[in-house]
Amino acid sequence: MLIDRHTHLEGALDPAWVLLECARRGLSLPESLRRLWRGEAVPFEAFIEAFLFGSRLLDSKEAVLEAVRAVTRRTADAGGRGFDLWLSPGFLVAHLKQISLEELWLGVEAGFAEARARGLAACVVLDAVNNLGPANGHALLDLVGQELPLFVAGFSTGGLERVPFREWAPVFDRARTLGLRVAAHAGENGPGANVREAVLEGGVSRIVHGLRADQATFDFLAERRIPVDVCPASNRALAADVDPHPLPRMLRAGVRCALGTDDPGLIPCDLATEAQAAEAMGLTPDELQRLQLFSAEDAWCLQI
Ligand SMILES: [Zn+2]
Repeated sequence: MLIDRHTHLEGALDPAWVLLECARRGLSLPESLRRLWRGEAVPFEAFIEAFLFGSRLLDSKEAVLEAVRAVTRRTADAGGRGFDLWLSPGFLVAHLKQISLEELWLGVEAGFAEARARGLAACVVLDAVNNLGPANGHALLDLVGQELPLFVAGFSTGGLERVPFREWAPVFDRARTLGLRVAAHAGENGPGANVREAVLEGGVSRIVHGLRADQATFDFLAERRIPVDVCPASNRALAADVDPHPLPRMLRAGVRCALGTDDPGLIPCDLATEAQAAEAMGLTPDELQRLQLFSAEDAWCLQI
């Protein structure tokens, strides 16, 4: 069973909907987003600009529903059976102040009901901003409170990998006391050493990307059975210097890798094109099958 193991609400909106909204709101499209839609590699900062632009459109329950619908449609059309959806209430609700937490959850809930009706499993992973530091993580946990919707399964850090994970450890501990699983974007725009540090000092049980880690770290991840979400299209656009992609080496080391689309509304892709990209890296049929097996076995949307 194929699950989209890593996809962001803020990067989910379909380009056609974004263009319509821009026309309706009188907004002009940033050049960074045009470049990403054309399939060009961009610096991480330019990606963040495009990501923020998409985020600003998520200012109503209806817009959030539209974004979840885009995830559902993309996942189902590619033959997927569910998705782990990363989203940032701290940014949308507290920072941009453009939508209430209640409206955000209502939009997600309505979207997940539609996903379930199509036979798809879904859950939310709260995403805090690494470079804003642990205070940002605590503020996010303060915001969402103790009574989390049942579909919230995890907590993660994203953004720029600037603040050491040992400083995030108290936030991760607090998330775990709420019953959340903990993940981190690591070894994407920061050094590979962040991957091991996120596990050993942050205590995270899942890594997103991890692509700058060295062979010894891949062995370490395999030994600890730490799942890694791998997003080839996103990596090609935002980490073009990591070439060749380490997915084959990761799988051969025994790492429990699975595919995710990351931000397919910004960097066009779906589970099918991600699988084709993985195959083009020279994976054997057996390795491709393992990728699919891990996809479901470690999916949080199938564990809530
Ligand atoms: Zn991500």
